[in-house]
Amino acid sequence: MSSPYTIQVLSIFTEYFESPLATSITGKAIEKGLFAVEPVDIRAFATDKHKTTDDVPFGGGAGMVMKPEPLVAALEFAHARQPDALRILLTPQGEPFHQALARELSQAPGLILVCGRYEGVDERVIDGWIDREISIGDYVLTGGEPAALILIDAITRLLPGVLGNVCSIDEESFSKPSLEYPHYTRPREFRGRSVPDVLLSGNHKLIADWRRAQSEKRTRERRPDLLDNHRDSND
Ligand code: SAM
Repeated sequence: MSSPYTIQVLSIFTEYFESPLATSITGKAIEKGLFAVEPVDIRAFATDKHKTTDDVPFGGGAGMVMKPEPLVAALEFAHARQPDALRILLTPQGEPFHQALARELSQAPGLILVCGRYEGVDERVIDGWIDREISIGDYVLTGGEPAALILIDAITRLLPGVLGNVCSIDEESFSKPSLEYPHYTRPREFRGRSVPDVLLSGNHKLIADWRRAQSEKRTRERRPDLLDNHRDSND
């Protein structure tokens, strides 16, 4: 494949990705050829007249299960195009997605993302054709498509050239074990609320100290677990 970083997304609703991938920074970066996202329609690999991709669960129970045949055929098609790409299933049962994982995956040789639907996919597909399972949080979505979009967004903004201001990536929340400081822009006064004086002082050291203190305060108040986890991993 010609693009430097390619993500194939396997879904039965490939149209889901059209607008988000054409919008803003993502759309511009794709247009510039900085990365590529290629939807693969799982339904196109179904061989019956009705293009069936789901079936009833063995053992009974509610809902349908994604059939192995079309999904594995789609996975093999994607794998043949990108043999080194990591094959990832989006699932609420996967490892939690976070910034460090986004960074790690931005250095992978490419990705193949699989979006489940219904009750999920036949377990044998996971056993035989999936390298990694990832969850975007402890809640259940209707399908893997929004989860895939979240991975695509968080990962591709870390690729070289996608964001103009590389500095802002190092400063922002989770790049260190902390949340970022608060931001203000013009006007100086808005409906009786002023911008903190220090930001108007022009004193770079004072501004940097204030931002660091704000970042620490916020993290302690809102996400003390980030500080605890960091301490644990350094022990
Ligand atoms: N029956 C499954 C369970 O209880 O684990 C949930 C299936 S869910 C309704 C359908 C699909 O949405 C999943 O196969 C997965 O691809 C996607 N999905 C749902 N929640 C997700 C999450 N938190 N993270 C990633 N993908 C998710």
